[in-house]
Amino acid sequence: MTQTDLMPIPGAFDPVPTTRPGLVDGVTPRADGKIDLLGLPRPRIGELFAGAGLDTKAAKLRSRQVFHWIYHRGVTDFGAMTDIAKTMRPWLEARFVIGRPEVVTAQHSEDGTRKWLLSTADGHEFEMVFIPDADRGTLCVSSQVGCTLNCRFCHTGTMRLVRNLTPGEIVGQVMLARDALGEWPKGAMNGLDVEESEGDYSSDGRLLTNIVMMGMGEPLYNFDAVRDALKIVMDGEGLALSKRRITLSTSGVVPMMARAGEEIGVNLAVSLHATNKATRDEIVPINRKYGLEELLQACADYPGASNARRITFEYVMLKDKNDSDDDARELVRLIKQYKLPAKVNLIPFNPWPGAAYECSDPERIKRFAQIVFDAGISAPVRTPRGRDIDAACGQLKTAAHKMSRAELDRLAEEKQAALG
Ligand code: SAH
Ligand code: SF4
Repeated sequence: MTQTDLMPIPGAFDPVPTTRPGLVDGVTPRADGKIDLLGLPRPRIGELFAGAGLDTKAAKLRSRQVFHWIYHRGVTDFGAMTDIAKTMRPWLEARFVIGRPEVVTAQHSEDGTRKWLLSTADGHEFEMVFIPDADRGTLCVSSQVGCTLNCRFCHTGTMRLVRNLTPGEIVGQVMLARDALGEWPKGAMNGLDVEESEGDYSSDGRLLTNIVMMGMGEPLYNFDAVRDALKIVMDGEGLALSKRRITLSTSGVVPMMARAGEEIGVNLAVSLHATNKATRDEIVPINRKYGLEELLQACADYPGASNARRITFEYVMLKDKNDSDDDARELVRLIKQYKLPAKVNLIPFNPWPGAAYECSDPERIKRFAQIVFDAGISAPVRTPRGRDIDAACGQLKTAAHKMSRAELDRLAEEKQAALG
């Protein structure tokens, strides 16, 4: 790791995380002067090919072919791109690369959950988690190294350094997961018009079918990169994941929510966690800036939300903090008042060293879920996954130097002051 402790928490009003230093027009600088194509939109790849000397028509064709090899086939070597002329391949190799984030460690939980600690080329660590289920496989993707916000129950919020991940580093997580799961098509490697059926894909019998932006960071504080990365993930000529299988989770960055719906169009999850101002101000401090009414109105206005595509409200169960019958009834009342097509995900609090809260008792969680369910709102209790490898919700935090309670409190104050 680089010197993360020395970097200040930036921003006076909305906390502004640092961008990748040296980034020019989406291109990350490299020591060898080559350009990493991972994370660049297809037209931009075409521009770069044209800038390197191809005529416009050739640049367009080659960019289409290369894009397909990168995202449909998972190829990282231009030499393997068999529908590109043999003489052209070294030309590409001399100028471009197709990168991946570096894997620092990979862990496997006894319940099948997998967690990877990854590193950016400039030495910042972040995590991704894969959660296999009977009918789906979900990749939990990070949008930032750390988080500028400081939800009091979240371990990631105690990280000091915050750097936005680039689109390449975001989409790179999906690529790495596919690499690790052995999920690239194994059909004939002869180019654009080969189609495979689902049966041609293999993993441990499970597929990466869903993506949730619920790893480290607040995706709506890294809007452009998250949008650009998800557009690539959804591109029909590449990874081709349906927007219905992608969920973006926000702690409530209200001014960016409409744009998220319009420009990305994926499912929305909102980290609600409390139903009154005092409690939400305490546990999700961004509430002091964008309050509950504004947040719920933004949910009601979210483009694309409907009964078929509900908004998920995440609600972490904290003992004696937000878990009473009255809290459950208030949650129902708010959802009805704003006429929200909603489901509620109840998340048992995952403890971490130094956390100021405890998880609610199972009986309490059951009762809370029942009240919401009886009001006609789906309210599953999420089973914690990968606890043995610290992969469960809100446990993601690298460089785990242990902070004392006093240090944690001081950090929380600093971050809250930055919220303005
Ligand atoms: N920053 C975004 C997405 C990442 S967090 C957000 O806050 O929505 C994904 C979910 O895990 C959020 O709902 C978050 O509040 C929840 N979470 C964080 N810490 C947790 C913990 N210790 N136990 C259970 N859930 C937690
Ligand atoms: Fe950041 Fe989300 Fe954790 Fe809050 S819950 S500190 S917004 S990652």
